[in-house]
Amino acid sequence: MDTSLKHFDIVVIGGGAAGMVAAISARTHHPDKTVALVEKSSELGRKLLVSGAGRCNLTNLQLEDKPEQFFEGTGKDLAKKIFKCFDYNNIVSFFSDLGVRLAPEKKGEQNKVFPVTQQAKTVLNALEAELAHQGVSVLTNIEVINIQHNKKANTFRLQLKKSDESISAKHVILTTGGQTYPILGSDGAGYEIVKVFGHKIIAPIVSAVPFEAKNALSQVLQGVKMELGVKLFSKEKLIAENIGDVIFTKYGLSGSAILELSRVASVELNRNGVRDLMVKLNFYPGENMADLKKWFEKMLKSRPNKTVVDILRGSLPFNLPGTILKFLDISLETKVSELTKQKIDALLESLTAFEIKITATRGWDEAEFTAGGVDGSEIKVTLESKKVPGLYFAGEVIDVDGAIGGFNLSWAWSSGFVAGKLE
Ligand SMILES: Cc1cc2nc3c(=O)[nH]c(=O)nc-3n(C[C@H](O)[C@H](O)[C@H](O)COP(=O)(O)OP(=O)(O)OC[C@H]3O[C@@H](n4cnc5c(N)ncnc54)[C@H](O)[C@@H]3O)c2cc1C
Repeated sequence: MDTSLKHFDIVVIGGGAAGMVAAISARTHHPDKTVALVEKSSELGRKLLVSGAGRCNLTNLQLEDKPEQFFEGTGKDLAKKIFKCFDYNNIVSFFSDLGVRLAPEKKGEQNKVFPVTQQAKTVLNALEAELAHQGVSVLTNIEVINIQHNKKANTFRLQLKKSDESISAKHVILTTGGQTYPILGSDGAGYEIVKVFGHKIIAPIVSAVPFEAKNALSQVLQGVKMELGVKLFSKEKLIAENIGDVIFTKYGLSGSAILELSRVASVELNRNGVRDLMVKLNFYPGENMADLKKWFEKMLKSRPNKTVVDILRGSLPFNLPGTILKFLDISLETKVSELTKQKIDALLESLTAFEIKITATRGWDEAEFTAGGVDGSEIKVTLESKKVPGLYFAGEVIDVDGAIGGFNLSWAWSSGFVAGKLE
């Protein structure tokens, strides 16, 4: 390694969304100081490139109004304060200054904000160009494995993997991310680095993740996506509910409605050790059993000789009615008038509250966010560690996780910008 890399005033560890903005902010606020961005992969922003399915949902219009309602974790209060310092409008102007135009989603979820190009590459390219413009030294293929703090001199020494060299710095900003998609670089190594300083790590768990829930319905409907009502129960108690897309998969359930509920489920399964978790699916979202009963009674009067399966096929995907009838031991030839009252109730119950047991969440390779990380109560509002002067944090490494919809990247931008001020 080039020995000239050895000392910098400010070193940012981790070249993801938060790290890139932290490095830009550090140079902007401290133009007289040398800044290095150290990244273990060969490229910066690999996770950013896959975000929003490659479209990069980089913020959300709703961030303007009480941002804290979209965040969880011990750093929730911290996030509220950070978004006061660098809010939605600051995020938009930051990118606008870099030449990146943003626009809300045109149809569907109109609060989600994307680059007008709909390409994450646009955002990464602009950040890389700005790093160069600001004169940040970008050091890729360098993995930090340990940080030592010299209390007397108030400097840091960064030990590197596969190298006898080390980097020293006056200030360190740790932006090593969470633990999801380890193949893209962040594998939780940052937690180990800061444990040495006595920082508490809130046990990381997966969030925004599909459910393992092998069931006969998913097998039949594999690949089908539907808008459903989803109620999540832990030990028979309703703990969360949602209406949105559900995708039936070979292993269980996915889709935006499931991912949005998955944080609550993950806490129960992966933190609290609860095993009795279940969802009830409503194939007629927004309607209840009584509404459906009225409709069914109307059909019974007007079309008594139609088969039940044909009646249901008018409002459900083709394979679904037959499958549900099979579960209930009702033959496909059964006419509406032939159903007993009990069978009608059982059918309507299955259509509005179809029970599926959740056995687990999927793993780190499929989760979008990490819930957990460096305890937010141990971090000042400047994002400096309360334990180690000169050590700052930003992004997903902190125990702050946002809702789906551009909130996690918003946190990366805002916390990165505030940390880079080194206040
Ligand atoms: C599939 C997917 C889709 C997503 N889509 C969205 C979306 O549309 N909108 C949204 O808001 N959020 C989305 N997210 C979440 C969002 O991408 C993350 O919250 C955000 O990237 C976190 O930024 P970060 O900089 O904190 O961490 P990261 O982006 O993970 O960056 C951390 C960096 O640190 C590097 N690093 C780690 N350890 C070391 C070390 N020891 N030495 C040197 N370098 C190190 C890593 O290689 C990595 O480059 C998505 C996540 C995934 C996985």
